[in-house]
Amino acid sequence: MRESALYETFARQPLAFERGEGSWIETIDGERYLDFAAGIAVNSLGHAHPHLVAALTEQAGKLWHVSNLYDIPGQRCLGERLVAHTFADKVFFTNSGAEALECAIKTARRYHYVNGAPQRYRLITFEGAFHGRTLATIAAGGQAKYLEGFGPKVEGFDQVPFGDIDAVLKAIGPETAGILVEPVQGEGGVRPLPNTSLRRLREICDRHGLLLVLDEVQSGVGRTGKLFAHEWAEITPDLMAVAKGIGGGFPMGACLATDEAAKGMTPGTHGTTFGGNPLAMAVGNAVLDVVLEEGFLDAVVQKGLLMKQSLAAVADEFPDIVEGIRGEGLLLGLKCKVPNAKVQQALREHKLLVVPAGDNVLRLLPPLTVTEDDIREAARRIHDAVASVRAAETTDA
Ligand SMILES: *Cc1c(COP(=O)(O)O)cnc(C)c1O
Repeated sequence: MRESALYETFARQPLAFERGEGSWIETIDGERYLDFAAGIAVNSLGHAHPHLVAALTEQAGKLWHVSNLYDIPGQRCLGERLVAHTFADKVFFTNSGAEALECAIKTARRYHYVNGAPQRYRLITFEGAFHGRTLATIAAGGQAKYLEGFGPKVEGFDQVPFGDIDAVLKAIGPETAGILVEPVQGEGGVRPLPNTSLRRLREICDRHGLLLVLDEVQSGVGRTGKLFAHEWAEITPDLMAVAKGIGGGFPMGACLATDEAAKGMTPGTHGTTFGGNPLAMAVGNAVLDVVLEEGFLDAVVQKGLLMKQSLAAVADEFPDIVEGIRGEGLLLGLKCKVPNAKVQQALREHKLLVVPAGDNVLRLLPPLTVTEDDIREAARRIHDAVASVRAAETTDA
């Protein structure tokens, strides 16, 4: 019997939402949940943010889409703003994170090609990485469960253990084009790469003529309390993929590059039908208006600290259920000692949404606009949910 017309690719929870406001989201039956999943770090400004609603509806009444065959003023503007606030000189807009990564991978390969070294096309990547679900990005992520059954793995990715600098050095060969890494692994279990390691990777790239390619699809756009997570390490990449939070819920992404790294991307080498369309650009510009406001990112740092403290208190009280807290800003992980699905289920019963991740972690990714009251409410729910898990464990034992 067929359950629905949809592909069975998602293990969906039995919840259907109708509306949301800020950090709160309501089901079609009127049940309210505190949303610390935020569409997996997508709803960066929460639900129904008035500035985003206004930007989208105003643009919707004017013009939805024109092809990239024409000048798109909103795209020019958002590109300029991203360039002004980052290492980048050039931007290519996409519809998703995987497409931003595809653009970054192609840009890295073309760079060496136009430099007269077409044999340099391989990227070094890290175990536990997640870069998307296209054929190239599952090869880059290197996870067997995502590669199985999809034919030959796309060539050109060499994986080393997470954060292992010696292994990176050993993996560099005459075909190496660059290093691709998430400053904080999201799907991999909220695993931050130490700042010292990120600096080492920058040095290694400089020494060997490689490009440093960062995947900030999850860690970017204010999530860690800086506009981009690599700023904490005081380094800059050559290429960077961005998506998720940059659209605040509108599907969009971007590949950012230095002039040098992008020099192979000449007319006709890459393209997109939908990427950077006027609707997406209106929303992307509106998201930046808010994230770049004076004090916004400092508030993310403060709220991150408050949340980390509250979670640490729960970990202290229930060390048999919660092993520890990890992450930066509002990209936090609860490392579980019992299966994370059990804790997630208990949290759902306490009307708090979170996202599972690798390494038996639950991710807490509230909107960056989350209030301190919301954080305290979440902490109470987490406490009670974890207590209920312990009670159940004790009964089972
Ligand atoms: C979500 C994610 C992607 C893929 O983005 P999609 O929009 O799903 O294609 C890539 N990299 C990282 C780090 C992500 O978190």
